[in-house]
Amino acid sequence: MTRQYLVAGNWKMNGSRAANAELLSGIAARVGSVDRVELLVCPPAVYLDSVRAALPVGVSLGAQNLSEQIKPGAFTGETHGAMLTELGCRYVLVGHSERRSLYGETNQLVADKFSTAQALGLIPILCIGETLEQREAGQTEAVLREQLAAVIARCGIASFGAAVVAYEPVWAIGTGKTATPAQAQTAHAFIRGLLAAQDATIAGSTRLLYGGSCKADNAAELFAGADIDGGLIGGAALKASDFMAIADAAQ
Ligand code: PGA
Repeated sequence: MTRQYLVAGNWKMNGSRAANAELLSGIAARVGSVDRVELLVCPPAVYLDSVRAALPVGVSLGAQNLSEQIKPGAFTGETHGAMLTELGCRYVLVGHSERRSLYGETNQLVADKFSTAQALGLIPILCIGETLEQREAGQTEAVLREQLAAVIARCGIASFGAAVVAYEPVWAIGTGKTATPAQAQTAHAFIRGLLAAQDATIAGSTRLLYGGSCKADNAAELFAGADIDGGLIGGAALKASDFMAIADAAQ
């Protein structure tokens, strides 16, 4: 089963009109040379419309979060999934560790968001991963199993036919500490095994991204892992030359 590499930029709460324009023109200048990799940018929601207007051909648009509500209504401050599709989003991150740890998103809420995203025509990128404490306590596999199981229980294994999973060890996010290629591949193989235990065909086609201090100088060795199908890039996605060097590594 060939899975197309996906390199996704999670801009988090960064950007400005000027910075976004510079970043997008830097991506546009290089996008023609990475035709085998799918590229995705996930800007803050307020910039989705303007980023869409300046999006280089061949680059997909995604959001960083959505409401779990299936219907729009009186939910101040929230963003409905249909608004994201209307603005041209193809993907949406769900369950990023910053949402889980800073905004109290539980496995249940993440599963609801995953379900709503698919119901409203978005491809969820489900983020899962263990903290340093959990890794040191030997709980990595249990945490990954639990985070994935909540979504499988809510949405069914078939839902992973239209979803992406991002393995992001929390201790590697924004810290400069990257998982070693072996640590990353081991976790990815474990995740694919969990999916395969339910449905081998789905497991073979689901893209699994690595995230956590993935940079131009470590991307190639990470992406060499048999079960690593690209990356979810934070800090290094804010500079076009870094982001595109990571994309090159996936070629
Ligand atoms: P980082 O962030 O690349 O800055 O570690 C990755 C992420 O949180 O998606």
